[in-house]
Amino acid sequence: MLAVADALALILANTDRLPGEACPAGPLLLGRVLAEDVVSDIDSPPFAKSMVDGYALRHQDLGPQGATLRIVEEIFAGQVPRKMLREGEAAGIMTGAPIPAGADAVVMHEKTELSADSSQVRIGGPATAGQNILPQGQEMGRGEQVLPVGTMLRPEELGLLAAVGRTTLRVYRQPTAALLSTGDELVEPAHRPGPGQIRNSNASMLLGQIVRAGCRGEYLGIARDTPGELRPRLLEGLRHDVLIVSGGVSAGKADLAPGLLQEAGVEAIFHKVAIKPGKPLFFGRKSRTLVFGLPGNPVSGFVGFEVFIRPALRKMMGWSRSASETAVAQLAKEFRYKSDRTLYHPARLHVQGDVLQGGSGNLTAEPLDWRGSADLLTVCRAQGLIILPPGEQTLAAGAKVEVLVTGV
Ligand code: AMP
Ligand code: MG
Repeated sequence: MLAVADALALILANTDRLPGEACPAGPLLLGRVLAEDVVSDIDSPPFAKSMVDGYALRHQDLGPQGATLRIVEEIFAGQVPRKMLREGEAAGIMTGAPIPAGADAVVMHEKTELSADSSQVRIGGPATAGQNILPQGQEMGRGEQVLPVGTMLRPEELGLLAAVGRTTLRVYRQPTAALLSTGDELVEPAHRPGPGQIRNSNASMLLGQIVRAGCRGEYLGIARDTPGELRPRLLEGLRHDVLIVSGGVSAGKADLAPGLLQEAGVEAIFHKVAIKPGKPLFFGRKSRTLVFGLPGNPVSGFVGFEVFIRPALRKMMGWSRSASETAVAQLAKEFRYKSDRTLYHPARLHVQGDVLQGGSGNLTAEPLDWRGSADLLTVCRAQGLIILPPGEQTLAAGAKVEVLVTGV
């Protein structure tokens, strides 16, 4: 059976980055990925500026006990200094205001004392050259590349893009993933399930995963397990960048999706992966559309999405960072398992000690008492999945394990 890493490699080899498009800058671009290198059009700061409210002065005018200086002007942010400082002179200056010529240090307001007539200021001690001054171009210089292609845009990047004057940007097109739920037993959440029925939890979960991955989700509803209901919905789904079919991909009599997909022209690339939960995972492709068939059990679907679909969506969206986001954690307690496939076991993640209080910051993983692929409730208490190789093992408390962080 195909190993997880080999399955993921096949998926990524079949995944193409979507084309770039020009978009107006703004919060709607959160989570999108730059399709161009961004260069600064200015020095920042554009002039040497004060980082505090206080007095600009010449540091050599101050002795070990400071000095009393004559105030020649007051400079506010947005103004331009009119005077050059000479020996024994100081200028009142506000945060963000340009440093006057001649000055080489700023002493903060709290360390000064104004004379009764406001014409002089007493500085209480020495100063060093450059103190409290942000030199011109220190953050970035004009013409400097500030963000490379492949950068995912967070609020930090949106701010920087504004600082360099970008009002339109080239970003990769956002993929749309269509989601089809299948199963004669399913009813939508608003209905109380009748005999033999269950509520459709997967559509809500998977659409949430699609949106969390930074994509658009298109819900195609529930198709009964008949070719007549499945065929048209599958064809509709194939019009999108990605089609995800939930349920109906195993080997049961009602599992019609793989056959109908191939009938619709989808090339089947694999149909089983050595992963637990979620072995019957279908992956195929029709021209540029990727098709995933996830088993219907909710946790199988959840894990299948995080392990296989999310990396593919990220590649489509232009992410340059590596696909998998795993971390190393220490087991919080002894853990015994047996699995013939790579096991993804739900775990609570803790940061040991409080990082803000000087703790070590070590990540610990507490494996949860999990009832298998239909037990979504336990996954709701987890922040990650411990990844364990096939086999039978007892791991001691403190043993190092790899975890896929799913949500904190
Ligand atoms: P299947 O992969 O279609 O054989 O379904 C496997 C199991 O998952 C069965 O117990 C289904 O009832 C259940 N299941 C299928 N689809 C969903 C869904 N959308 N929401 C919740 N459970 C589902
Ligand atoms: Mg089914």
